[in-house]
Amino acid sequence: MNTTLKNIPAIHALKMQPMFQQHLHTFAINEKDATQHLRKTLDSVREKIIKNAWDGPNPGSEQFIEIIFKLWSEQLHTNLKPKLKRVINATGTVLHTNLGRAKLSPRAIKQIVEISAYNSNLEFDLEKGERGKRTTFVEEKLKEITGAEAAYVVNNNAAAVFLILKAFGKEKEVIISRGQLIEIGGSFRISSIMEESGAILREVGTTNKTHLFDYEKAITDETAILMKVHTSNFKTIGFTKSVSTEELVQLKRQNEQIIFYEDLGSGAFYPFTKHGIGDEELVKDIIDKGVDLVSFSGDKLLGGPQVGIIVGKKKYIDVLKTHQLARVLRVDKLNLAALEATMLDYLTEPEQIPTIKNITITIDELEEKAKTLMGKLLNLHLPFDISIQEDLSTIGGGTMPGVTLPTMVLSLKPHYASAQDWKEKLQKQPIPIIARIHQDALIFDVRTIDEEEFPILVDVFGKLCP
Ligand SMILES: *Cc1c(COP(=O)(O)O)cnc(C)c1O
Repeated sequence: MNTTLKNIPAIHALKMQPMFQQHLHTFAINEKDATQHLRKTLDSVREKIIKNAWDGPNPGSEQFIEIIFKLWSEQLHTNLKPKLKRVINATGTVLHTNLGRAKLSPRAIKQIVEISAYNSNLEFDLEKGERGKRTTFVEEKLKEITGAEAAYVVNNNAAAVFLILKAFGKEKEVIISRGQLIEIGGSFRISSIMEESGAILREVGTTNKTHLFDYEKAITDETAILMKVHTSNFKTIGFTKSVSTEELVQLKRQNEQIIFYEDLGSGAFYPFTKHGIGDEELVKDIIDKGVDLVSFSGDKLLGGPQVGIIVGKKKYIDVLKTHQLARVLRVDKLNLAALEATMLDYLTEPEQIPTIKNITITIDELEEKAKTLMGKLLNLHLPFDISIQEDLSTIGGGTMPGVTLPTMVLSLKPHYASAQDWKEKLQKQPIPIIARIHQDALIFDVRTIDEEEFPILVDVFGKLCP
């Protein structure tokens, strides 16, 4: 054993090999990094030899050196591939926060490609030939869609909440119902954000019930904001009472210094209720009620990029735009490009937005899709019992809690190995497939799988079950 280890060539000897110089060139890496990588490869082989797990050639041989260089280049290849990659979402959850939330529309994707490849008039006014503001284009479209006096865009909705609290609530009181002090995704708590902003939290009511008089009693000279938060990722049911937007607008009108702000979480521009889905009000209707400011995410129900959108009264939005933090929280140009394109979709053909398409697809269309995919998989004679079943999808992304959508799924019950084993195998493919498991069968919900992705699924199964 010891003699075998002794035969492993030293790193400086390997570096004298012509292969070393060749690899430096092929992978365009410098000598220091390359040496470090080569040493790692050598260490892993040494470990295998010590554990008696090495089945390669004898370390003294020519072939051994060849193998080392081969392992080394394989490692470099994997290192050079992005670890962030596309996956196939077979879970049926349309806005899956772990899987990147909303997919963008063709128009938004085209805009991202164009604006990233070339220079743009991001902050240049082409009419006047002078410096412009980056959010101007999109503000006009947001105003048109929501009917608000003014609009502004920041990095995400959490940033919007923070900016509003900091700008108007710092060292003053913000009144909020106890039932709305929510936590989203484990790391975002309304109460913590408020603390960070320096606003003083005045909780009113109880977890299940808050009345108008609770708000009335809490108002003092120190009150700056009445805040309403949409409890987007849970629903209180049973013995509950919350105060409506209309009532809070009335209350705010009696107190000139108070701003009424709603954190909508998701914010809808599309009337999902017309399809009998959920009870999400349109942002436009909320603005109509006289709310001063509302904020919401771009990549939830809106189906756009990650941004935080603020719409409402101009006098308040102007304050936000000139706040020092606005620069810290500013939206990046690619998200802005995608947002403007998504707004154009809303103004022309909202059905082009994948989130809307995936939520409103009919059960008949889903059944057709499921049959098409099943036909392709049956052709492969796979070691699975394959059937189409009725099931339920959720919307996800902390939106429309409690809303489920009837769907059609493919159930694949394996003849050998467990569904869990297959699930893990599918997750390790070059384009990973993320499926659910139910009663030891793999479940593919066709709601969130595009028809263009069917050939990928077919290829993967063809490869895994030759
Ligand atoms: C999702 C959510 C947020 C955070 O929005 P991001 O765009 O993810 O930062 C804030 N408030 C509510 C009510 C939400 O649902």
